[in-house]
Amino acid sequence: MLSYQHAYHAGNFADVHKHLILFAVIDHLLRKESSVTYMDTHAGRGLYPLAAEETSRLQEYREGVARLWQARERLELERDPLLGDWLAALGEVQSLAGGLDHYPGSPWWLSARLRAQDRLMLFELHPGEHGHLARQALPDNVQRIHGDGLQGLVKGLPVPSPRLCVLVDPSYERKAEYAEVAEAVCQAMRKARHAVVLVWYPLLPAGRHRDLLEGLRDGGVRKIWRSELRLREPQEGERGMVGSGLLVINPPWGLDERLEAAMAKVLPLLGEASRHSGDWWVGE
Ligand code: SAM
Repeated sequence: MLSYQHAYHAGNFADVHKHLILFAVIDHLLRKESSVTYMDTHAGRGLYPLAAEETSRLQEYREGVARLWQARERLELERDPLLGDWLAALGEVQSLAGGLDHYPGSPWWLSARLRAQDRLMLFELHPGEHGHLARQALPDNVQRIHGDGLQGLVKGLPVPSPRLCVLVDPSYERKAEYAEVAEAVCQAMRKARHAVVLVWYPLLPAGRHRDLLEGLRDGGVRKIWRSELRLREPQEGERGMVGSGLLVINPPWGLDERLEAAMAKVLPLLGEASRHSGDWWVGE
């Protein structure tokens, strides 16, 4: 049974981390004319009004995107090429200039810069979340599929376009999902070796993401760029998320340097204890 709803967490520090990297990857892909197929296996609603009942309950965005938004002029965040473009794009979905009242989910980040020659496939399994997504105004070359994104990914390959970019962003409501994601990504990489694949995971005190990494290694996917943003070290007995991880298979050249520069400005806003690490994971 699916109970997770991203609206409760929209715009939190993990969204900022994930969507900043996604934005940088898209930016790189747009440097060439050849067409790209994007697949978002776990799409969610697409756009989150911050005043919505679910989002205003926990207000996680206050310790995420709102920190960057409020500091953008004071800290001249716009002068960082990646952060500046990301913040400008974020400004496009706000209903009032200068205000922050919406947070865009991955379908919006992916569709906002979709060109006529590109295609975007959005998978969402939860009927209610898919209903929200179906009501979003999105370009004609966006396909919304009410179904399982991991199965859809494997079945949908190979794609006709020369390039492919996949975001895998599950809610990990079941422990088995880490291994299931690894299995689907390994199958996908066998069918599309060149694909740029982003896989998000939470950093939990229990370290459950090890199943994901080991599954990828055992399935032959070894050279992966890994970005981890930790808010703090877990306290004794703590069980919740203390950080956000993102794996990028076949990362664009220069992604690590662009992200490091952006993170150097983001970390002080997220708290004194926050840390970022970026490295190549080679299956240790
Ligand atoms: N990617 C979104 C974003 O960045 O804005 C957030 C996605 S949220 C973390 C995970 C979503 O996956 C939820 O909306 C959930 O209903 C959906 N979901 C869970 N299992 C799924 C599956 N097997 N296939 C497709 N969607 C699934």
